[in-house]
Amino acid sequence: MNKRPLIGITAFETTHRQPPHTPLYALGQRYAHAVETGGGAGIILAPGLSDESLREIFARLDGLLLSGGGDIDPARYGESPHPALGTISPARDHAEVLLAQWAVQADKPLLCICRGIQVLNVALGGSLIQDIPGQVAGALQHNFDSVRVPHEQIAHPVEIEPGSRLADALGTLTAQVNSWHHQALARVASPLHVVARAPDGIIEAVEIPHQRFIVGVQWHPEWLYDTQPEMLRLFQTFVRAASANL
Ligand code: MN
Repeated sequence: MNKRPLIGITAFETTHRQPPHTPLYALGQRYAHAVETGGGAGIILAPGLSDESLREIFARLDGLLLSGGGDIDPARYGESPHPALGTISPARDHAEVLLAQWAVQADKPLLCICRGIQVLNVALGGSLIQDIPGQVAGALQHNFDSVRVPHEQIAHPVEIEPGSRLADALGTLTAQVNSWHHQALARVASPLHVVARAPDGIIEAVEIPHQRFIVGVQWHPEWLYDTQPEMLRLFQTFVRAASANL
């Protein structure tokens, strides 16, 4: 019987909706279910733990998923905040930047989703477009009203680099994706290769060639894996890479 690899999934910080608004760590359920459907066993990671605890947890993981969420503190890439910058979470930034760096150093399979691709880029020395509508003339709409628009709604196509790990995983060179981001990659950190773009040129995926599986996507495959077989294959390919040493 094949063993399920242990996949750490980073959570976000929030507060309970009822007074006294207790601090919480939370995760969209879709991430855990997508990892499990892809063959892995997901474990939710608390970003507020000490570096020492994170390192112990990291050492026991077979793979890591950086999930979506709010904006990264632009001070991490040497910029002052744009007026449209969203909520930032210094503890989460700190934990996820460390985890991304460790995963790259250790060549541990890493799937980065939405905010995750941005964390990966910043962790390796890249920078971000802080607000696409305010900073990129002629850009497509990449962010929608999430109350009125379902998360699985297709927003735009992406064109994928032939021969890339992402193309192999998806089994296609064009994909139809959802889009829930107002930020995007600007200066791309040197180890990363851009492997997908939207029609307006916005970067939609990166990866590190010659590593087992270090892939970031700007869309949300966890909302698409049950309707698009290629998005399920992305999770399966990630989980298979994480299973290599079991
Ligand atoms: Mn997009």
